[in-house]
Amino acid sequence: MARRNLIAGNWKMNNTIGEAVVLAQEISNKFYPDWLDKVDVAVCPPSVDLKPVVNVFEFDHLKIGVGAQNVYWEEKGAFTGEISVGMLREIGCVYCIVGHSERRNLFAETNEDVNKKVRALIAGKIKPIVCVGESLAVRDAGTYLEFVTAQVRAAFAGVDAFEAKDAVVAYEPVWAIGTGRTATPEQAEEVCAAVRATLAELFGAETADGMRVLYGGSMNEGNAELLLAEPDIDGGLIGGASLKAASFVEIVKAAM
Ligand code: PEP
Repeated sequence: MARRNLIAGNWKMNNTIGEAVVLAQEISNKFYPDWLDKVDVAVCPPSVDLKPVVNVFEFDHLKIGVGAQNVYWEEKGAFTGEISVGMLREIGCVYCIVGHSERRNLFAETNEDVNKKVRALIAGKIKPIVCVGESLAVRDAGTYLEFVTAQVRAAFAGVDAFEAKDAVVAYEPVWAIGTGRTATPEQAEEVCAAVRATLAELFGAETADGMRVLYGGSMNEGNAELLLAEPDIDGGLIGGASLKAASFVEIVKAAM
């Protein structure tokens, strides 16, 4: 099945509202709307920037999706500091990153937390971008395929094929995030193919065939084309390079 690539920018904890609006506007100014007939594009700014960024793209009639970087699984209540799926949906979010390695490692997010978030997002009609990926120690130990596929199984526990079909998985080897050390296309493809095989075991080959598996980890305008040429890599989750409009737009072009 022909899958349409998704290029998603993870802005992390960068950009005040004013800076976020400028960056969104710069992206919009460089964008030809018909590109979105060939590739899906999203940006994931910090929570406070979400609505202002949605407004920029809406004003320009540009269907770039906006996604959050985190969510809490409960609907409402005494959960100080958290944001619900309903809140994200109301401001126009269509994606939400879940289980990024920074959240797993710095904020102790577990596979169980990731699963609760995935299920809440699917129930609330927001597409999860589920991040999985091994540390350098796991890669060196040679057990990375088992490790990553176990993360995929845990993230989708209790989810059926119909619910899973619009979810996205992003393979992000921790050793490649923000380090400038990109996985080779062969290394990335090996794991993305294993992720898809796991999705096929969970949801059947047809559903797995239609689901997008992204690569993330120091992807930039210089290496995107080769990574995206791999059969099981259906786009990229881009950190650093998504903070520069020109670089982000070049990656989008490479994905068409
Ligand atoms: C990320 O954090 O999702 C990421 C891929 O970052 P970078 O592109 O900067 O490695």
